Amino acid sequence: MTGWTLLIHGGCGAMRPETVSAETEERARAGLNAALDAGAAVLARGGDSLGAVEAAARVLEDDPAFNAGRGSVLTAQGRVELDAAIMDGRDRRAGAVAGMTNTRNPIRAARAAMERTPHVLLTYDQADAFAREQALEQVANDWFVIPERRAQLEKVLAAGGKFDTDIKYGTIGAVAVDAHGHVAAATSTGGLTAKRWGRIGDSPLIGAGTYADDRACAVSATGLGEAFIRAVGAHQLAMRMLIGGEVLQDALDAVLADVGSLGGSGGLIAVAPDGEAAWGFTTPGMYRGLARADARSVKIYGEER
Ligand code: ASP
Repeated sequence: MTGWTLLIHGGCGAMRPETVSAETEERARAGLNAALDAGAAVLARGGDSLGAVEAAARVLEDDPAFNAGRGSVLTAQGRVELDAAIMDGRDRRAGAVAGMTNTRNPIRAARAAMERTPHVLLTYDQADAFAREQALEQVANDWFVIPERRAQLEKVLAAGGKFDTDIKYGTIGAVAVDAHGHVAAATSTGGLTAKRWGRIGDSPLIGAGTYADDRACAVSATGLGEAFIRAVGAHQLAMRMLIGGEVLQDALDAVLADVGSLGGSGGLIAVAPDGEAAWGFTTPGMYRGLARADARSVKIYGEER
């Protein structure tokens, strides 16, 4: 193994060429390219996959075009609650945060939780308090809110809390394998529009929306979190390879089918230590990108295979 591979997603949903404005499409493609640039720069200089997925995720968190960090969707109470996780395939160390309300880059807090505490998952105000202690930038909750998300919340609440068919799962994620064959995964999200009661999705739950294991692959999910939690989607994918001997793409497709059988649509990205990369989704589109030393692609629609 000498090369490196980085895959990212910016969520999946009902995106079709005829329904996405040229401006939205351009913003999304620019954002995905900027995230690939950030992650690829780490890998190209011999950095590890952990640093690459964190760098790519930070760029997407800061980009209001995606549902993570600034630009996240709103809870039923009209505020932003952020979830994120990161995992290192070398030793399966993991860190995660959920329900954060004031930390600019939850993925940084997740990494700090992994590296500087004996714990895996920190939640709500104590997660923000920990991030503050770690000198991670704090912002007012309003800083995360953009007008489009308020309008989206009002629409969903007017429909009785039900999503319409235009739903877009805008979670962001990155998976990478570095030149040493080590994999890592990162996922960050605002969750689902109009989520209630301190709801936590699949993204910060290790094995559900995020997983990395050098013996199999690194995985990041987007979609209906409840279904990914019940399917233990990311871990299931890795175990299909490790125990079941399935190849990456088959394992990924089987997990999406399983999530589908539980009533959930969504998407997955995954890379294996040998550099094999796969993605798939059961929605019309998924914001996604791939970078290698000699290749780069950014795609949105299902038709762009
Ligand atoms: N999976 C995320 C969640 O349920 C949502 C998304 O993918 O946008 O929190």
